[in-house]
Amino acid sequence: MNNHIEICETRERKPRPPDQDLGFGDVFTDHMFVMQYNQELGWHDQKIIPYGPMSLPPAAACFHYGQTAFEGLKAYRGAGERILLFRPWDNARRINATGERLCMPPIPKETFLRAVETLVTVDRDWIPSAPGTSLYIRPVIIATEEHLALKPSSSYLFVIMLSPVGSYYRRGIAPTRIYVETEQVRSVPGGVGAAKTGGNYARGLQAEVRAAGQGYDQVLWLDGQKREFAEEVGTSNVFFMIDDVVITPPLHGTIMPGITRDSVLTLLREWGVAAEEREISVQEIADAHQAGSLQEAFGAGTAAVISPIGEICWKDRCMQINRGETGPVTRRIYETLTGIQLGRIEDPFGWTTEVLLLAE
Ligand SMILES: *Cc1c(COP(=O)(O)O)cnc(C)c1O
Repeated sequence: MNNHIEICETRERKPRPPDQDLGFGDVFTDHMFVMQYNQELGWHDQKIIPYGPMSLPPAAACFHYGQTAFEGLKAYRGAGERILLFRPWDNARRINATGERLCMPPIPKETFLRAVETLVTVDRDWIPSAPGTSLYIRPVIIATEEHLALKPSSSYLFVIMLSPVGSYYRRGIAPTRIYVETEQVRSVPGGVGAAKTGGNYARGLQAEVRAAGQGYDQVLWLDGQKREFAEEVGTSNVFFMIDDVVITPPLHGTIMPGITRDSVLTLLREWGVAAEEREISVQEIADAHQAGSLQEAFGAGTAAVISPIGEICWKDRCMQINRGETGPVTRRIYETLTGIQLGRIEDPFGWTTEVLLLAE
């Protein structure tokens, strides 16, 4: 495969919003990366072009049957203007795992990484530097074949867009209020709960909108069979600390194998904090709360990194955690992870990689 990336720079650079005005995912940089797939040529025609609308036929398969795969990672502006990525090869691996589940062709890991690095380099002036800010990187693969009978598409488009972001939650890392969703579910065994694919998220909107209407920040999703066990919080992996043991649901195919989740487990084990990957029921959480042994809870994902949980409401019972404040273990994880991501503290795990300005 020809690995040349053609770069067509825009003539009209957009103004960059000030760092303190950044929300999450509402501003896009000047360029995007695009690459085509068809059966004759495989992945081909790599380009960086001005960010803007794309033209697709209404019958393109992605609009109808959800054959899509996406990723989310971030570039950080570290000390000395270094541009750092956090574990990007894990995103390269996971987009192909999602693609495999949905009968989409894999993208060579090197191609994925080079595309990300080249695009970030072209738009490097967009990487914000205020605390809590970063450049969110959103790769997506969509099925483009113009064909209405259900089958795997024969053509695809891979696009990467960049969005300078502030804190995921408007209130920064303030503890969140969580509603335990006991009717709708996000995933079932054998389904696509471990895949980052479009339909997985649309199905959560109704419960999330309802919960938001009642003043909650996120929904705690339960397992799809018994609606007893915690699975994820919003679009993050979830952790509970009970009696000095940190517990997170296991990777049995119904939850996302989060890169942040894996990093949290690695840190805890490194620190000698007991960490278990096992099923945890809401009843167990409620019993621990009653007994006074539910110490902390938090969500973990690239977008918010770590978001402390201050309160969980299950049916008519509301449980406050750590007096509604961020707990010490949650804070330590947040500070260590963001410190490593920004290159401020040593990275003994080899998680960060520097984007070295590529000479095209
Ligand atoms: C992306 C995602 C996560 C977090 O994964 P990271 O790799 O840590 O960003 C968790 N749950 C869901 C449903 C996700 O889509």
